[in-house]
Amino acid sequence: MTTFLSNYLGGQWQSPSQAVHTLLDPITGETLAHTGGAAQGLPQAFEFARKEGGRALKAMSYAQRAAMLAEMVKLMQSKRDDYYAISLANSGTTKADSGVDVDGGIFTLGYYAKLGAGLGDATSLTDGAAAVMSKDQLFQSQHMMVPVRGLALFINAFNFPSWGLWEKAAPALLSGVPVVIKPATVTAWLTHRMVADVIEAGLLPPGALSIVCGNSTGLLDALTPFDVMSFTGSADTASKIRSHPSIARDSVRVNIEADSLNVTILGEDAAPGTEAFNLYVDNLVRDMTIKSGQRCTAPRRALVPKGYMHAVAEAAAGKLAAIRTGDPRNAETGMGALVSREQYDSVQAGLAQLKSESSTLFDGSAQPLLDADERSACVAPTLLGVRDTDAATKVHDLEVFGPVSSLMGYRDLAHAMEIAHRGLGSLVASVYSADNAWMASAAQELATSHGRVHLVSPEVAKTHTGHGNVMPASIHGGPGRAGGGEELGGLRALAFYHRKSAIQGPSAALDIAKQNSTPLSY
Ligand code: NAP
Repeated sequence: MTTFLSNYLGGQWQSPSQAVHTLLDPITGETLAHTGGAAQGLPQAFEFARKEGGRALKAMSYAQRAAMLAEMVKLMQSKRDDYYAISLANSGTTKADSGVDVDGGIFTLGYYAKLGAGLGDATSLTDGAAAVMSKDQLFQSQHMMVPVRGLALFINAFNFPSWGLWEKAAPALLSGVPVVIKPATVTAWLTHRMVADVIEAGLLPPGALSIVCGNSTGLLDALTPFDVMSFTGSADTASKIRSHPSIARDSVRVNIEADSLNVTILGEDAAPGTEAFNLYVDNLVRDMTIKSGQRCTAPRRALVPKGYMHAVAEAAAGKLAAIRTGDPRNAETGMGALVSREQYDSVQAGLAQLKSESSTLFDGSAQPLLDADERSACVAPTLLGVRDTDAATKVHDLEVFGPVSSLMGYRDLAHAMEIAHRGLGSLVASVYSADNAWMASAAQELATSHGRVHLVSPEVAKTHTGHGNVMPASIHGGPGRAGGGEELGGLRALAFYHRKSAIQGPSAALDIAKQNSTPLSY
C-alpha cells in the first residue's frame, strides 16, 4: 500500500482526497506515495496559523523557542534511519548524498538552537544604539526589531526536501513566526515525514507548523500583507511569483533563491602538479557529482588558465571515470540518479544545447549503469570544454541541473573576472590558489556578483567547508539571476522574520520598551 501525503492545516490532518500526483522511485519507477490536488480552506488555515501558532510562539522568549528547536533536533536524530530510507527510495541518492540533505538539515536546526539560546529571555531585538534627536537629549530614536505579525510560507525545490525545510524553518520558528511548508511534489515524502514526526511528538504549539503537499494553487492568494514568503526553485516559477498580486500589490516580503551559474576558478599560479591544482581537480569532481549535480551551488562553469586546460581535463576525467553511476543500493555506486525522468529529459536537452558550443572532454555514459537501466533517471557525469570562451553564450545562461560542468580557459585575472560576471549573479564562486594576494583581489571583484566567495589554499585543504556546501554561519543567496535572496548567515537570517521599526520618543519610554530586548549583534 502506498502512502498518501495529506495536508496538515488548521491544526489537523486533512482526510486523504483523490490521488492526483504520484511520487516514484527514480531507479525502479516503483510508486511510493501520492498527493492530492489543490488544498482546501487555505485562508482559514492561514488565519489559524497566524492567530494560534503565532500567538503561542510569540508568548515565548528566544531561549524558549531555541530549546524547542533543540528538542526537534533530538527527535530528528532518533529517526535518521527512516529519513535515509525515504531519501534513497524517493531521491535515488547514495548514503553520502542523502546525508547532505538529511544531516545538513538537522545540523542547521541545531545551529539555530544554539544561537537562539544565546539571545536569552528577550522577546524582541534592538538594532544599533539609540540616536539622540533633540538638544536636551531627551527625544531619541531606537530601531527595534519585532517578530512579523503574519506567517512564513515556504515553497521549496525538489533537491533538498530536508535541508530546504529546516534552513528556513529554524530561523522562522526561532523568531516566533509560524511556518507553512509546500515541498516540491516529486520529493515531498521526506518533508512530509519530518513534519509529521514533529507534529506527532507535540513539540510545537498548534498552528506553528503546517504542510501542503501536491499543489500550489491558492497558496499565494491566501497571503496577507504582514506575511513573508520564501521561494526556492527555477527562475521561471520565480518570475510568476514576483508578479503575483500578493507580492506585487500587497508587498508581502519575498525571498527568492533561483538558478545559478556558479563558477570555480583555478589560480594563475596553480600549475599542474601543485597542491592547489590537485585540490581544484578533486573539488571540481566532487562538487559536480554530489547529489548527481542537483545542488543549486554546483560549479557549472570551471575557469582555468588557458595553458592548463588540457591538464585539468585529463586529471578530472581520470577521477570522473572512477565514479560509477547507478542504483545507490549497490555498494559500488558512487553517484545515484536524478530525481525523475522529467529531470533526466531536461538534463539531456540542456546538454545538447551546451554541446553546440563545446567539445566533450569526458562522457561517463560509456560505462554501463550499475543495477539500473535506461528507464531509470540515472545520468553519468559529463565534462565539457568550451571552444571559444568569449564567443560562447549558452554556458553563461543555461543551468543544466545534473552532473555537468563546462571547462573554460582564461587569459589573466581581469579576463577570469569578466567571465565570472557573465553568470549575471550567482550563489557561489570558488578560487583555488597558493597566492593569497591573487585570491584576495579575485574575492573583492567576485563579491560584486556572488553571494558567497570560497577561497581555498593548500593551508586550508583539510579544513575548508567545500564550494557547494551551504554552512549556516555564512549567507546563502546571490544577486541577479540567482534570485537576489539572502538566507542564513547566523543571526542575519532573523532579519527576514522581523519587522524593523524606528521607535521615536522620550528616552525613558524607550528604555522601558527595550526592557525585553537584546541587541542584535553578529
Ligand atoms: P520549480 O519547478 O520552479 O518548483 C519549485 C517549487 O515551486 C515547487 O514546490 C513547485 O511545486 C512550486 N511551483 C511550481 N509552479 C508554481 C507556481 N506557479 N506558483 C507557486 N509555486 C509553484 O523548481 P524545481 O524544479 O523544483 O527546482 C529546481 C531549481 O531550483 C533549479 O533551477 C535550482 O537551481 C533551483 N534551486 C535553487 C536553490 C537556491 O538556494 N538558490 C536551491 C535549490 C534549488 P510542484 O513541485 O508541486 O510543481
